[in-house]
Amino acid sequence: MPTELLFRQDAYLKETAATVAAVNERGGIVLDRTVFYATGGGQPGDAGSLRRADGSEIAIGTTIYDPEDRSRVIHVPLEGQASPEPGETVTAVLDWEKRLKRMRVHTALHLLSVVLPYPVTGGSVGDADGRLDFDIPEGGLDKDEVAEKLNALVARHADVTERWITDAELDANPGLIKTMSVQPPRGSGRVRLVAIGDIDLQPCGGTHVRNTAEIGPLAVTAIEKKGKQNRRVRIALA
Ligand SMILES: [Zn+2]
Repeated sequence: MPTELLFRQDAYLKETAATVAAVNERGGIVLDRTVFYATGGGQPGDAGSLRRADGSEIAIGTTIYDPEDRSRVIHVPLEGQASPEPGETVTAVLDWEKRLKRMRVHTALHLLSVVLPYPVTGGSVGDADGRLDFDIPEGGLDKDEVAEKLNALVARHADVTERWITDAELDANPGLIKTMSVQPPRGSGRVRLVAIGDIDLQPCGGTHVRNTAEIGPLAVTAIEKKGKQNRRVRIALA
């Protein structure tokens, strides 16, 4: 049975009741539903805890997709934790402070891809910082200038909205793809689009804040040269 990904519908959900679907041989816990974001798209899996009926807690260090069945989410406990029984009801509780920072950074990286409209070759989200790698033909990027443009976008207090679109709808609206900063993936039947006001539109499965105001002030901490045509731009919550 696939795990229901509640973080896809509501990134602000901090906890949920869930049933233990399975415990694998390495102690990984599969739930029928979860608020824990699983590692993907450059963003680390969530930490938190599973609260049992007796009030005790199983500390979760990270969350991943089951490599043998990617429709299932595995909550990876820290060492030495008790193991729940399949069928047991638990409350899955996020380390919300950590997640919210990652949501702020992740949404900020969307804005960075608008400030620097070049092909993105990689990226990652940390707990209070993040980076994108760009394929940029010439150097000469100015840290202060990038930071200024980034903070101007944050200050527009733009709403972040998400909607699903079918492959057929995409095909019927070729103009939509033209306005997207990233080409949507094909083949799964539907794509999740994330819009930041009229600033950015791209397919994304990640977790975002509701409004750019929540990102707060940003700093550009480094612009590094990674090969002839690659620049790594690092940002941080200021
Ligand atoms: Zn995103």
